[in-house]
Amino acid sequence: MNAPHREPGFRDSVNMMFNHAVRLMDLTPGLEEKIRVCNSTYTVRFGVRLRGTIHTFTGYRSVHSEHMEPVKGGIRFAMGVNQDEVEALAALMTFKCALVEVPFGGSKGGLRIDPREWDEHEMELITRRFAYELAKRDLIHPSQNVPAPDMGTGEREMAWIVDQYRRMNTTDINASACVTGKPLNAGGIAGRVEATGRGVQYAIQEFFRHPEDLKAAGLEGDLEGKRVVIQGLGNVGYHAAKFLSEEDGCKIVGVIERDGAILDPNGIPIEFLRSHVQASGGVKDFPRGTYVEDGQSLLEHDCDILIPAALESVINLTNAERIKAPLIVEAANGPITAGADDILRSRGKVIIPDLYVNAGGVTVSYFEWVKNLSHIRFGRMQRRQEEAQNQMLVKEIDRILSVSGAEHGLSKAFKEQFVRGAGELELVRSGLDDTMRTAYQSMREVWHSRKGVEDLRTAAYIVSIGRVAGSYRSKGL
Ligand code: NAD
Repeated sequence: MNAPHREPGFRDSVNMMFNHAVRLMDLTPGLEEKIRVCNSTYTVRFGVRLRGTIHTFTGYRSVHSEHMEPVKGGIRFAMGVNQDEVEALAALMTFKCALVEVPFGGSKGGLRIDPREWDEHEMELITRRFAYELAKRDLIHPSQNVPAPDMGTGEREMAWIVDQYRRMNTTDINASACVTGKPLNAGGIAGRVEATGRGVQYAIQEFFRHPEDLKAAGLEGDLEGKRVVIQGLGNVGYHAAKFLSEEDGCKIVGVIERDGAILDPNGIPIEFLRSHVQASGGVKDFPRGTYVEDGQSLLEHDCDILIPAALESVINLTNAERIKAPLIVEAANGPITAGADDILRSRGKVIIPDLYVNAGGVTVSYFEWVKNLSHIRFGRMQRRQEEAQNQMLVKEIDRILSVSGAEHGLSKAFKEQFVRGAGELELVRSGLDDTMRTAYQSMREVWHSRKGVEDLRTAAYIVSIGRVAGSYRSKGL
């Protein structure tokens, strides 16, 4: 959805948010400019022979900041892809990585294509050719530039990309680290597919651990029964909705998709809706709840938590005044324009910003990259040793309980849970949870203690820009 004309575009919005934060910081104008600008954007137009004719596709790979390398950022397949969008997303990647202390610079890529128009074999040819164009310029490279999935891409595309890179670099022992978000059998990591949605859940859980922050949004209590409206039931939205409803007791009262929305005050069964969307291509005709044709109107629905998890600029000057949710969680990149951000803040809404909320993807991508470079699965060396130690402890406690004549021993269920050593998935989730908690705390500290900082977004930018500036300074810039 495009923002109205008098509103700045996505890239200008990111710049305005950046400028707002740096006004509260003490950076030299030169360093400020260096951090703001996008270092480079490569545009490629390439042809692929399909269905008897040559089709030309346009793609981009933008590198925002190389204060740390490799640079990192997803590849998006969508018709709306353009240079401004890719550059805005690359800038967000720089700040996102800095905020969650992932040692990468920021990058992003995009291909202007509607993946639904092509079959699987055609998509493979197009993706491989795009990957070839980027790899031959080191814009895909384990130590230079490491893409990942984004809107319109997933494990399938990442598997083609890594294979393409391998064909071009047959002796590179670290080839599998050239891209993340791969399937497990192609060098991926457990928990990457769910990672961004899982990170959204951890971000909300952490927010709810701070009563003072909840109060700022006019909320109280825990997540049980909180009413959630979510836009986009793709990778990010589906996982966030699933975990929040199945594990935290939230009620997903609204789901907005391309073709409309489903509203059900009793809570929508997410797995069921997801299967319906996958089978039919949309939410229409879902047998539960009420179908709303003007899906976007549900953004304004009365709920506790609004989670835009689809695309940018969906909350803009045309609807910001009517948003009712007291807490907005930006699972998508840039769902709120700079103008809408001002309005929402003046109306007392609390916004947990994109560069924090959806950082789960890049965090687990970082774990995947480390796994690829170390050539060993996380937990492989320790798991059984940990289990043996726990088993010894349980046996000893049981022995003591029995000699002391206790009526009950440890329960079977407790023993099973306690003894089990952590596998890759448990370690990945633990690392992600820790990352999301720590990053939130660094943001909220600035939010509550620094003069002039009125919101979490400004706080997030201040933390990130401060870290990027520190990195440039230590290089002597
Ligand atoms: P996806 O392609 O898996 O899902 C997007 C979903 O949004 C789809 O279900 C699509 O039908 C729906 N959608 C598209 N247009 C819509 C509209 N106008 N109204 C309502 N729904 C619409 O994409 P994703 O990977 O889930 O990414 C979603 C957002 O999260 C993007 O902003 C992306 O940049 C961001 N993000 C994704 C990741 C990741 O790991 N995938 C990481 C960080 C950020």
